[in-house]
Amino acid sequence: MDSRVLDSALKALSRYPLCDRCLGRLFARLGRGWSNRERGEAVKRVLVMELHRMALEGEEGALEKLVSIAPNVGEVARGVVESLSPGSYREGGPCAVCGGLLENAIASAVEEGYRLLKAYDVERFVVGVRLGGDVARAEEEVKRVAGAGYGESIKAEIRREVGKLLLGRGGVKVDFDNPEATLLVEFPGGGVEIQVNSLLYRGRYWKLGRNISQAYWPTPEGPRYFSVEQALWPMLKLTGGERLVVHAAGREDVDARMLGSGRPMIVEVKSPRRRRIPLEKLEEAANKGGRGVVRFRFESAARRAEVALYKEEAARVRKVYRALVAVEGGLGVGDVDRLRRALEGAVIMQRTPSRVLHRRPDILRRRRLYSLDCSPLEEGVLMECVIEAEGGLYIKELVSGDRGRTRPSFAEVLGREALCIELDVVWVEHEAPGAPG
Ligand SMILES: [Zn+2]
Repeated sequence: MDSRVLDSALKALSRYPLCDRCLGRLFARLGRGWSNRERGEAVKRVLVMELHRMALEGEEGALEKLVSIAPNVGEVARGVVESLSPGSYREGGPCAVCGGLLENAIASAVEEGYRLLKAYDVERFVVGVRLGGDVARAEEEVKRVAGAGYGESIKAEIRREVGKLLLGRGGVKVDFDNPEATLLVEFPGGGVEIQVNSLLYRGRYWKLGRNISQAYWPTPEGPRYFSVEQALWPMLKLTGGERLVVHAAGREDVDARMLGSGRPMIVEVKSPRRRRIPLEKLEEAANKGGRGVVRFRFESAARRAEVALYKEEAARVRKVYRALVAVEGGLGVGDVDRLRRALEGAVIMQRTPSRVLHRRPDILRRRRLYSLDCSPLEEGVLMECVIEAEGGLYIKELVSGDRGRTRPSFAEVLGREALCIELDVVWVEHEAPGAPG
């Protein structure tokens, strides 16, 4: 045929039955403001008109062609075929690409999708499509036969149509940059799955008491320690979330307090059902959960990409510690100066502490000690040290030497045993990632 659009349509329909949508999709990029169903409908009508004209003008084979493709064209060809050759119209099979299911699949995906968006309090979403069966292969085959070159994929059509119809329901919108959930439409199987993105909040925590772990630590007899994570559990109640994870910039020992600056963290609430709880309300609930020994400050919502930043950053950022140190036989004259001269600015060579060897690989790490300021307490039996060091330096071992596994150490410099009997983190360096847009 002279028209390339009609020629492509004729080629495709000569081989395959196609519904209006699946035919129209071959020409999706031609014409503006129309649905593929409208395109397919229009092309079918003009094609039938053209074959009708050719048959009326007695062109050879035109009537036979019309009769033979009529089952693949469908209902719209019936009238002309029956008028030219009564009794010869036959019903065709279902659409070769979608099996005739597409129209209903889109409608029911919209129903189910809307229900899910509401159930999970989602306002910003994207639609994804999982194609099953032979749909993708059948689509490629029809495209190849038609050779049209102006089409789009069935995935793109389902994504767009479902998104557009959901938008029409109101109160929800498509957001590719920062969606709250993905609706995954199964085709042709049917069914919609919702993948709800976690709620992420940037903030800080303080541990005002000792023997508090960062992560929940269950044992058959109940939690081993009260934890920062447990203190946050009231957030699950407020948000209807399933699980909660604390992504902190590093962690202190269970028996160390976290004071001063607090430790930067991102709290992740998985599978929430309520997303629009004010930050102050969450903070209040968390602080109540902290029982006066764990405190929180929530700063803002965070993005997924920031979680990784916290982890990378944690390894090396500066920390300031306050350590209470006991020295065998008490402190002598000049001990404090000796420690400072030997250790300030030094690179500490530290093998994995023996106390954590059962769960960490035995490696040698080098960490710089930036400053050391010790003052004797209680007639020189104890001293209080303020230590600023590169993140990842184990302070208890810096003091004790861990039987030579950490060098140099307080014990090595003083030539006597030394023990860290109390440890607090008082400052954690933190470059706040950019505020979310
Ligand atoms: Zn179809």
